[in-house]
Amino acid sequence: MDLKTITIDSLRKRLSEREVKAVDICQTALDRIESLAELNAFITVTPQSALARAEEIDRGVVRSEQLPPLAGVIIAVKDNMVIRDVRTTAGSRILYNYKPPYTATAIRRLEDAGALIIGKTNCFDFDMGSSTENSAYGPVKNPWDLSRVPGGSSGGSAVAVATGMVMVALGSDTGGSIRQPASLSGVVGLKPTYGRVSRYGLIAFGSSLDQIGPLTNCVEDSARILAIISGRDPQDSTSSNCPVDDYVSSINEDIKGLRVGVPREYYGEGLDAEVKTAIEDALRKLESSGAEVIDIKLPHTEYAVPVYYLIATAEASSNLARYDGVRYGFRAEEAASLKSMYSRTRDQGFGDEVKRRIMLGTYALSAGYYDQYYGKAQRVRSLIERDFKNAFEQCDVIATPTSPTPAFRLNEKTSDPLEMYLSDIYTITANLAGIPGISLPCGLTSGGLPVGIQLLGKHFNEALLLRTANNLERELGFNSRPPLS
Ligand code: GLN
Repeated sequence: MDLKTITIDSLRKRLSEREVKAVDICQTALDRIESLAELNAFITVTPQSALARAEEIDRGVVRSEQLPPLAGVIIAVKDNMVIRDVRTTAGSRILYNYKPPYTATAIRRLEDAGALIIGKTNCFDFDMGSSTENSAYGPVKNPWDLSRVPGGSSGGSAVAVATGMVMVALGSDTGGSIRQPASLSGVVGLKPTYGRVSRYGLIAFGSSLDQIGPLTNCVEDSARILAIISGRDPQDSTSSNCPVDDYVSSINEDIKGLRVGVPREYYGEGLDAEVKTAIEDALRKLESSGAEVIDIKLPHTEYAVPVYYLIATAEASSNLARYDGVRYGFRAEEAASLKSMYSRTRDQGFGDEVKRRIMLGTYALSAGYYDQYYGKAQRVRSLIERDFKNAFEQCDVIATPTSPTPAFRLNEKTSDPLEMYLSDIYTITANLAGIPGISLPCGLTSGGLPVGIQLLGKHFNEALLLRTANNLERELGFNSRPPLS
């Protein structure tokens, strides 16, 4: 059984026709996770609970019960989402022994739908960064080229899907952390509209930006997962009441007459030439599917990076105040006073990037500077949001590169945080505006590295985004796989 090519739908058919057993699929996944351990995609694997649930699914098949929608689907979740009694680290030393007392809503919904959660994937320390190198649990490697990064911060999730260790993984996206690793690792990554998926049980980074979403091998599987995890959750007041569409049934409709906007601001300086060519080829495929490609303007794009790094750091500095050695995880030893226990715990528990952001964020929020930095950033954020609103009066979907470059080398950008920040230049605008975005593989560079195209849609219009992506996926026929899969 090849978990890289089997879809959720075909798995369900094969299970109900008794061609395969959930226990065997689960074992296949566990074997693969073990044989590809050098990629360092997982922090924690949970074989017992996954196998026990697989046995339950198999018993249901024997009793000819109606199978739940995600029966036997092997899923990994990024280690910044909590599962009751399963260690959850957020890639950080400060949570190295934290066992949460509850389960995230998105994960509970997957389990209720019959999915098998097989473990927790490696991620950047509190999701801060674009390469998954500075995890306290070691760097994740890109299966297309082991000397390169898989993108981040959901790098472990992207690699687990790209190599067929699992069929699906959940990631989280604050500034691109689902879409950018999807692009660098050659899989599909979807960031839903802000509020589409409950954040209850997602360890907070930038609360006004964070969203949970799926990484999959095909667009259709993304649609199936989104349908399950979306919808209002009383535990998260920012989750939306907006009705959940039937993402799957509309996915095969054509896109004739669809207007695809191309913002020239996303195709300028810094864009790798081979990435550009791959995106332009994909745009032609959209045209051959009947879409009309038009130029649009997003004039405030140049402010997105500074605005994001003010808002994300400000919110992070406040969210991370709770890690003080008292309530969760790690506590430094040999402190002479309560105050020194706090500061030693935070000094030893957080990585360098986390400390850098706490300092930036605290400064931006401090009295006297609040209006000058955070307040101003929020105002420019509204302008970026308005840009999208105006653009969507002329087009239905926007197409851009996902990342300016293909996968870069391990350690290439670690000494220069600003370089790292620019990796998300095309993805962070969607988080600032709260709109949905999807990245899907559209080609390989001459060096054999995957390139992803990003499609952006209107708030809560994931159905159209998925339909467009599905048409494009079919037209592109991308079926390369990493050498290590
Ligand atoms: N790379 C971005 C950052 O460092 C995005 C991270 C994310 O989406 N979690 O903040």
